Amino acid sequence: MAALTLTVLGAGPAGPNPGGANSGYLLRQDDRAVLIDCGAGIAGRIPLHVAVNRLNGVAISHLHPDHYFDLVALYYMLKYGEPRPVDLLRLLPVFVPPGGRECLNRFGELIANRSAMFDDIFDVRDYAANEEIRIGGLPFAFHPVQHYIMSHAMRVRAASGAVLVFSSDVAPCPQLIEAACGADLFLCESAVLDASQDDADPAKRGHLSAREAGQAAHEAGAKRLLITHYRSGENFDALHMQGASEAFGGPVELARDGQSYVVG
Ligand SMILES: [Zn+2]
Repeated sequence: MAALTLTVLGAGPAGPNPGGANSGYLLRQDDRAVLIDCGAGIAGRIPLHVAVNRLNGVAISHLHPDHYFDLVALYYMLKYGEPRPVDLLRLLPVFVPPGGRECLNRFGELIANRSAMFDDIFDVRDYAANEEIRIGGLPFAFHPVQHYIMSHAMRVRAASGAVLVFSSDVAPCPQLIEAACGADLFLCESAVLDASQDDADPAKRGHLSAREAGQAAHEAGAKRLLITHYRSGENFDALHMQGASEAFGGPVELARDGQSYVVG
């Protein structure tokens, strides 16, 4: 069994970095491929790594536009592209947070006057928190975490036993530490430069600074930290690296679009 790998399709924040995209990642093991998040600019980057009609599934962390708007582009790529091979399910399973299916139905009404628009290409299913779901054969668990809206960190276990945790969008909170516990690779957002860019009330916060991501990785006992969803640029990059490294004390990298990382 080959190692589980994570390929970064887009590591940008809600307002993309120059030439960048929003949130999207490809998880691959052997011939299986699962897309995590599908923000603006992600769909067109999938075929650089895997044929879109060979995707085994999609998992959406939360329903902010920078994490799912390109489901529309993915829909059209599949609708007018090569049919799905016979060894895969006819419809692409798309797992969304509770209430997400209803949200996509409203989207379908806006786009095509048809609430069931996505149903001819996707099998859209709401996932339940803290329930293990197999997506493309990979066991996923979705952990509710603090954000401005309902948001779920994802914990995925490779065949080797190695664990990837994706923070989703999240504020500093104990649920994140629990979700990331012992992660071999912790993919963690850092959408604010420092806490002053977020709500002053800790209970209303929705994002992490790189230093806070490093702190979370430290508390969770993660082995490696990959910072994502960050504002890029030479000065910013050095700032993120410094904050995350000092707080974590372990190996840190900044996620780069197009790069792959071995989970194990
Ligand atoms: Zn968000």
